[in-house]
Amino acid sequence: MLIDLHAHSDASDGTDTPAELITLAAAAGIDVLAITDHDTTGGWIEAAAARPPAMGLIRGSEFSTQVALDGRTSSVHLLGYLFDPTDPTIVAEHARLKIERRRRGLAIVARMVDDGLPITANQVMAIAGNAPVGRPHIGRALMASGVVASVDEAFATHLAGRAKYYVPKVDTDLLTAIRMITHAGGVSVIAHPRGRGERRVLTAEFLAVLAAAGLTGIEVDHPDHDADDRAELTEIAARNDLLTTGSSDYHGSNKALRLGQECTRPEVLTALVERTSGVTPPLGPVS
Ligand code: AMP
Ligand code: ZN
Ligand code: FE
Ligand code: FE
Repeated sequence: MLIDLHAHSDASDGTDTPAELITLAAAAGIDVLAITDHDTTGGWIEAAAARPPAMGLIRGSEFSTQVALDGRTSSVHLLGYLFDPTDPTIVAEHARLKIERRRRGLAIVARMVDDGLPITANQVMAIAGNAPVGRPHIGRALMASGVVASVDEAFATHLAGRAKYYVPKVDTDLLTAIRMITHAGGVSVIAHPRGRGERRVLTAEFLAVLAAAGLTGIEVDHPDHDADDRAELTEIAARNDLLTTGSSDYHGSNKALRLGQECTRPEVLTALVERTSGVTPPLGPVS
């Protein structure tokens, strides 16, 4: 069973439409895919409609959250699966983040324009379309205008957190987001807990606090994690009754990753589904 529980479409900052994402996953031999666009469920209906009968689909979203520690705020990505997409708190928070992402994207672009870079706000907004604006959309504009050769290069130079154009956005408090997803009948899994910013705040002690607050699992097998990260996270999960997932975090041509590059064990998926309220069931076969 090839189970990939973290993938982006152009409903956020991937480059494939939700239907293309499903078709590509089926062609890659994926048995179960989760669509997890940033701060939106906007791709769910199109993905569900494109699903071949033999493929399982888990509907999810990657929530932008933050943790304040020692006077600094760090960003943490939280995967929510199988929650009620009409839950008023989630609908309101996704709507707030859409506005917040647009404000912040326009602020980053304004700094670049002021500095003489040949991109425009309209160009970036056209690339984003109806998606919540993300830095990869700005990266694509920089690429189209010949400033960089790839989105990866854009992140290394113009879009990084330490770059002079960087503007932060105000994300949801992590504990609030975990409770919000649980309340909406879903399960929550921390995405890439040993990614760049997350490492500082997601100590073993704090992960234990999150587990007690209802966190369901952590992503252990992720392209950004090395062998030591995976060993450490596996041990933390075992001590705190957290499930451990593996996923590609596919973003189409915005990132050099393959669908199914990392995957989740079938018994973990079964346990995830069992811990939901059933309000948004998996579609198709998942075991
Ligand atoms: P934002 O949500 O606007 O803060 O942008 C962060 C997004 O950019 C995340 O979803 C990452 O997947 C993506 N990202 C981070 N680093 C890179 C990179 N080097 N190349 C392409 N995308 C990246
Ligand atoms: Zn992304
Ligand atoms: Fe992420
Ligand atoms: Fe992601």
